[in-house]
Amino acid sequence: MTKAKGVYLLLIQVNMDIQVDVGALGTVNFEKGLYVYVGSAQNSLEKRIARHFSRGKRKFWHIDYLLDNPAVEISEVFVKEVARQEECKIAKEIGKTNVPVNGFGASDCKCKSHLFKVGDLSFLRNLRVKQLRK
Ligand SMILES: [Zn+2]
Repeated sequence: MTKAKGVYLLLIQVNMDIQVDVGALGTVNFEKGLYVYVGSAQNSLEKRIARHFSRGKRKFWHIDYLLDNPAVEISEVFVKEVARQEECKIAKEIGKTNVPVNGFGASDCKCKSHLFKVGDLSFLRNLRVKQLRK
């Protein structure tokens, strides 16, 4: 796992309705609920994921702004050791059945979003990701 690279999914719990200033994306409203974020790490998945769990860090990605909010927590992490191109394919797949947060995490690609509000976890069924034990 240490040197693993690939794509990861963060299952994110937003515990109340919040407004978050997401850097260049502007102010975004998040309804209370469950979200999934799709990212990739080409060096170390482990380090990247640990970074997502640390609070009060310098904000670089859109996701850093969301995860810094006290009402927000990561509830589960899933990983898949695949090439970077898979990141956008997975985002598109999730977007077929879930609601995108427009532009979020998608500054460097043509996707509508890499963050989705999800009703349940049925979208995980076809993605062949494995759950990371904490
Ligand atoms: Zn993308």
